[in-house]
Amino acid sequence: MRGNIFDIKRYAIHDGPGIRTTVFLKGCNLHCRWCHNPESQSLEPSRMWQIHRLGEKEFREEKMVGYCITAEELWTELRKDQVFFEESAGGVTFSGGEPLLQPDFLLEMLKRCRAAHFRTCVDTAGAVNIGGLEEICRYTDLFLYDIKTAEPDTFRTFIGEGYENVWDNLKRIVQHGAQVLIRIPVIPGVNDSLVALSAIVGRLKTIPALHRIELLPYHRTGADKYRRLGREYGMGETASLTETGITGIKEYFRENGYEVL
Ligand code: SF4
Repeated sequence: MRGNIFDIKRYAIHDGPGIRTTVFLKGCNLHCRWCHNPESQSLEPSRMWQIHRLGEKEFREEKMVGYCITAEELWTELRKDQVFFEESAGGVTFSGGEPLLQPDFLLEMLKRCRAAHFRTCVDTAGAVNIGGLEEICRYTDLFLYDIKTAEPDTFRTFIGEGYENVWDNLKRIVQHGAQVLIRIPVIPGVNDSLVALSAIVGRLKTIPALHRIELLPYHRTGADKYRRLGREYGMGETASLTETGITGIKEYFRENGYEVL
């Protein structure tokens, strides 16, 4: 069995508990304007410029991002980090792109991880129509589940199609009893107003088992990648947010009964 990935990041500490190895699967059905991994969106390898500077001069080298890998090859890579997983209560995170778009490959890797007692996270935006989600839940210790908005029009304008899938799949995951950490990227002008935040809280409250939230302040680290892909960055000059800049938003979720990481 084969899958398409574009990176394997070792010693990751922001993609779930402990020290993790994060596998970035290629392909996403969304096109969030702030996406900091735009090279992940196409399922096929993406042509991207690597820019080298020598003094005042800039040299461009073309590079293909993304490759096909067999389950066995990926498994060989993941096993190399076993000692870090054991010592830190870490494990493997499958991110993207959207990992649920390669469900068979994802499931195969999750099963291998479970058999080896590697703890697993799946980092998803959930906007996919997927049949085998319950099977994926059986082998996933924690879902890092992106909620970007609870306003369908905002979703369509800034993110793409599949708004109801996000909430339907979240409900299915929770009903299955899987652990979920809701992750909300805080995006200026998209979901940082009181109206937008109260819509999110209102919708989250319809799924009572959800208690934990992580807020991710918008940052511009991916902006340069758009230039290197020959694309326009959809957020213009919008400035990055800081942890302190979203203190009020964290407080808002706490006041509404959520544990905010
Ligand atoms: S869901 Fe994630 S990977 Fe897909 S476009 Fe949005 S930010 Fe990028």
